[in-house]
Amino acid sequence: MNGSKFLFANWKMNVDEADAAALAREIKNCVLPAAVKVCVFPSFLSLPAVARELKKSAVAVGGQDCFWEDKGAYTGEISPAELAALGAKYVLVGHSERRRWLGETSAMVNGKVKAALKNGLTPVLCVGESADDRAAGRWPVTLGRELEEGLRGVELAGNEKIIIAYEPVWAIGTGKACEATDAVEAHKLILNYLHELFGSARKKENFSVIYGGSVDAKNIADYFGNEEIGGALVGGASQKWAPLSEMFKALADR
Ligand code: PEP
Repeated sequence: MNGSKFLFANWKMNVDEADAAALAREIKNCVLPAAVKVCVFPSFLSLPAVARELKKSAVAVGGQDCFWEDKGAYTGEISPAELAALGAKYVLVGHSERRRWLGETSAMVNGKVKAALKNGLTPVLCVGESADDRAAGRWPVTLGRELEEGLRGVELAGNEKIIIAYEPVWAIGTGKACEATDAVEAHKLILNYLHELFGSARKKENFSVIYGGSVDAKNIADYFGNEEIGGALVGGASQKWAPLSEMFKALADR
């Protein structure tokens, strides 16, 4: 495997505190595939326990979301400053489930990307087209719009990292993973958009593009085998030790 790739585990609202801490312990104690950076994204209620478990380990912890302000009268919201203080390194922003169920707009997503960067968190900006957009050939337009709106006004001062997760909505949680060749095409397009948006301010190290949508032990190596694909964001197959360890094995055998 060339260089480092990411394996991000999105535990959504599916893993309670006791199971999350136990799963974190299994990951911490196993031999991780070489050159794979692992980060787990537990629910906010289990994040402190998971962060304690993973302290001083090679496994990072991240938030599934954050608010666009650090502090204030925003009942129920999650401060990016508090997330960082808890030891989080990454934060998912604009996941399609939040866009769908909570009406998260691109303007909100944009504020969250900026707030994450300001607090030293690496934002993982999720973008992806619907099944209708894919069928109508409009997916490049959707990706371009979500990237432009999500990254509007974002400035790179130095070595900050922004990760884009290409997550076609039709592939999330459906078992219908995007073919690796189609994912590569989308990744190339996203890399070109990033070049257009940031021009010469962009260094290769500033960005990674990863794939998400029904990734499991059977297909993960197909994605990791491509230079354009910087890793995977995995939901369902990352939430129990058996399928997660199978994915680690699939990557170790490469
Ligand atoms: C996700 O939640 O980002 C995701 C990709 O889920 P799944 O792997 O279950 O499709």
